[in-house]
Amino acid sequence: MSSVFRGFKSLKYPVFTVITPQTGLQFDVRGLNVSEVDKLKHSMVTPSKATEILNRTIWESLDGKPEHITKYEDFLKNVTTVDREALVYASYVTTFGDKRDLVIECRNPRCAKSDKTTVLLSKMFNIVPYPNSSSFKTSYKMASSIDKTNNDPSLDNIINREEMVVNNTKKNKVKFVEEPKSEDIESVNKNEKEIEEPVIEDIISKRIEIQLPSSDQIYIILKQPTLYDLERMNRTLPFNKTEEIAIASEILMIDRIEERYNTSKQIDMVLDAPEVIIEAYNTLPAGDRQIIYTTFNEEFGKYGMSLKSDWVCKNCGEKDTIEVDITSYFFRMVMQS
Ligand SMILES: [Zn+2]
Repeated sequence: MSSVFRGFKSLKYPVFTVITPQTGLQFDVRGLNVSEVDKLKHSMVTPSKATEILNRTIWESLDGKPEHITKYEDFLKNVTTVDREALVYASYVTTFGDKRDLVIECRNPRCAKSDKTTVLLSKMFNIVPYPNSSSFKTSYKMASSIDKTNNDPSLDNIINREEMVVNNTKKNKVKFVEEPKSEDIESVNKNEKEIEEPVIEDIISKRIEIQLPSSDQIYIILKQPTLYDLERMNRTLPFNKTEEIAIASEILMIDRIEERYNTSKQIDMVLDAPEVIIEAYNTLPAGDRQIIYTTFNEEFGKYGMSLKSDWVCKNCGEKDTIEVDITSYFFRMVMQS
């Protein structure tokens, strides 16, 4: 008999490899243990506390991560708020399993019957990766191997062309030994030129400038927020009411607001602290909000993962799409366990 616990030798936690949709980084996420789930459960007193503990818990459950991410701060700065959804998804599946019972209410008002259905989250998985890096192709391949119906022909073309070049390069090397004809080299070179893709900025350093419809001197500069931005915002403005959280998520995507005076007499005004941005943002004409939101979604927000499935009502045949918000499901499961 021993009174000292040195850890179970026979216990292995399941691990799930995930590639983040926006930054294309590969992480191995292991399932959570009892103590981690409890820590999350008790963190849920305020949303900002829950965010902080969630980020920390995911970080501590990483079995494998890219080489350039060594400290917690690196993790926060290199992972976007959208990327975190993929990590939460991996954590959910390894901790609570892939199967999920859902109660769906028919949206047809004349029917409105509820029905219980069991779904596999992995079957609902969809990804729209940000097209920036070589890992994006891996992530795309991962997604398309899960869901064959989700293939995007334009992405397939990029991938196939790149594979063609890799093959050509290999052939080229062999041909060199055999003294290639000059036209062969030419055709290979020409081929390489054709596949050159425009350089796309990585999503974290990308900035998009919008000139406000109501003033030609006010500019909103948008960015994709990282977990670091999220935590910084939470520390400066520890919002806890629903409407405050909603506005916080809107200004989180604003890198800075500038008023450019177009005269040498006055220095342009640049607002970049969260508490000042929110003050300025609240004074903008309400009509200008839409362009900020639409531009953000087009440039950043549309890249990410989602869990979606078609559903047909057994009672009336009404068709609908079920969508699972992984973070809220994750917390729901944490509370139940
Ligand atoms: Zn129905």
